[in-house]
Amino acid sequence: MPTKFVFVTGGVISSLGKGIFAASLGNLLKNGGLSVTIQKLDPYLNVDAGTMNPFQHGEVFVTDDGAETDLDIGHYERFLGQNLTRMNNVTTGQIYSKVLAKERRGDYLGSTVQVIPHVTDQIKDSIRLVASQTQADVVIVEVGGTVGDIESLPFLEAIRQVSSEEGRDHVMFVHLTLVPYTSTSGEPKTKPTQHSVKELLSIGIQPDMIVCRTERALAKEAREKISLFCNVPADMVVESRTRRFLYEVPPALEKEGASVKVARRLSLQLSERRSHEFEEIVERLRSPRNGQVTVGLVGKYVKLHDAYISVYESLQHAGIENDVKMEIDYISSEDVAVEMDLSHYDGILIPGGFGERGVDGKIDMIRRARELGIPFLGLCLGLQCAVIEFARHVCGLEGAHSTEFDNQTAHPVIDLIPDQRTKNKLGGTMRLGLYPSKLGKGTLARSIYGAEIIYERHRHRYEVNNSYRMALAEHGLIFSGLSPDESLVEIIEIKDHPYFVACQFHPELVSRPTKAHALFRSFVAACLKRRQGRGDSGENLG
Ligand code: GLN
Repeated sequence: MPTKFVFVTGGVISSLGKGIFAASLGNLLKNGGLSVTIQKLDPYLNVDAGTMNPFQHGEVFVTDDGAETDLDIGHYERFLGQNLTRMNNVTTGQIYSKVLAKERRGDYLGSTVQVIPHVTDQIKDSIRLVASQTQADVVIVEVGGTVGDIESLPFLEAIRQVSSEEGRDHVMFVHLTLVPYTSTSGEPKTKPTQHSVKELLSIGIQPDMIVCRTERALAKEAREKISLFCNVPADMVVESRTRRFLYEVPPALEKEGASVKVARRLSLQLSERRSHEFEEIVERLRSPRNGQVTVGLVGKYVKLHDAYISVYESLQHAGIENDVKMEIDYISSEDVAVEMDLSHYDGILIPGGFGERGVDGKIDMIRRARELGIPFLGLCLGLQCAVIEFARHVCGLEGAHSTEFDNQTAHPVIDLIPDQRTKNKLGGTMRLGLYPSKLGKGTLARSIYGAEIIYERHRHRYEVNNSYRMALAEHGLIFSGLSPDESLVEIIEIKDHPYFVACQFHPELVSRPTKAHALFRSFVAACLKRRQGRGDSGENLG
C-alpha cells in the first residue's frame, strides 16, 4: 500500500493545538490498526530548537538519537506511544543548510538556486524520507506557524506539490482554525475561518477537513456555514473543543468521527478499535481515589509552563498510576525565600536548566528538602545543584559550585565533561540522546528500575567532577547510577531520607500516559506516603 499523507495546517491564530490534534489523530489511526508517524515542519531559521530560549519556545525535546526538537515531538511520542527520531522535526534552517551545502558542492552546477524548485524539493525529500524510512501507512505532517506567515510559504508550496505528485487519493489536507464567540451576541464567528481558508486557496490548497477549535459545542448552523463558504462537506467540519485534560482530545475527536472520516477520505481500512486506554486515563484524571498531592516545581522558566511540559506530563502520568490528583505548584527559583513555608509540599522537584540565575534558590530548596525529609527528585541541573548543596552543607566544602556558574570556584564539584573542553560552538554540541547507565546493587535506583542496565536520554555539558567523588561518598552521597565504564555519574541518592534521588539524564522525555516513568512513579508514591503521614487527604489544599 502506498503511504498516505495527512498535512495539518493552522489558521487564524497560533497556539490552537495543532500539535495535540496531529498527535490525537495519530493515536486514533494507530488504534485502528495502522502504522503511523508524525513529522513537524518548523518555519524558523534555527537549525534546531537547541539554541532557543525555553521562555520563547517552550521545552527543547530530545529524541533517542540526540536531536534537539520542538516540544510537539514530545506530544507525538506520548500520544503515539512510540519513539521518534531527528527525521520527525524539520526546520527551515536545516533545509537551507542542505541546499547551500549542495550548492557549494556543485550539485546544482549551472542553475540559479531558487526557493522553487530547490528549496521545495529539499522539503519534499525530507517528507518522503520519513515515509520511506518508517514505512508507515500514514505520515501526518504538521506545518508549524499560521497560514499567511511569510516563513511558512515554502512549506505550503511543497505540500501542495506533494499532493499533485502523489495524487489526491493519497494526500489529505486538514486545516485547524479558531471559531470564537463574541460576548455580545454569544454566536460562533466563522469569518476568521473563511478568511484563513481563502488564504490557503490562494496558494492552491483546498482543505478536505476543517477542524474548529472552540470553547463551546459547535452548532449545526456554524458547521453548515463553514461547509458552504469553505467548500468542504458539512460532515468534514469537525469540532475540537477546549478540554481540561490533553488526553481527552483523542476520545473527543473519536466521537466526532475524525479518524473514520480521514480513513474514508484516504481509502484506508480501520480495524475494530483495540484499546480504550485514553478513556481510562481520563477517568483516573477526573476522579482519583487517593486524593491529592502537592509538588513544588522549582525552576527559572516557570512563567511559561510549556518550558516544563514533559515534566508536568510525567508527573500527571505518575499521578494516574498512583491514582492521585497532582497539584503542581510552579515556584520561581529567583523568588525562593528562606522563610517560605514548605510544610504543605509533599515533594520538591528541580528540573533541568542552564545559566546561573535562580541556582541559589534551587540549592536552598534542596537543602530544606534534604533536612526536612521532603521527597526530592532532581533532573539534570537538579542533580548538579543537589551535589553542590551536599558538598557545601554536608562535606563542608565552602564555596563548592559548578564551573558553569563560577569558573574560579575553590571546589568545582560540577565541571565540564572532558570532551566538551574542545568544543567552541554551542549548537548541537552537548552530550545528547540515549546513553546506558549501570545501577549499583542494593541501591534505591536499582530497586526502582528493577534492572541493572538502563538507557536514558541526555542533554548536558557538565558532570559530577570525579576528583570529588570520594569526599562526597565518604559523607554519605551514593552514586547509584554510573556510565558502564564508571567514568560518569548518572544517578545519586542518599540514605535515611524518604526519597532523595537525582539523575543526570531526562526521564521526563520518555514517560508515557500509559506507562509512567519509574522515577516519577516512585517519587509520587513517596509524596503520597508523606501526605498520608501528615494525616490529610490533601483535598483542601487545591
Ligand atoms: N546546564 C547544565 C549542563 O549543561 C544542565 C543541563 C540541563 O539541565 N539540561 O550540564
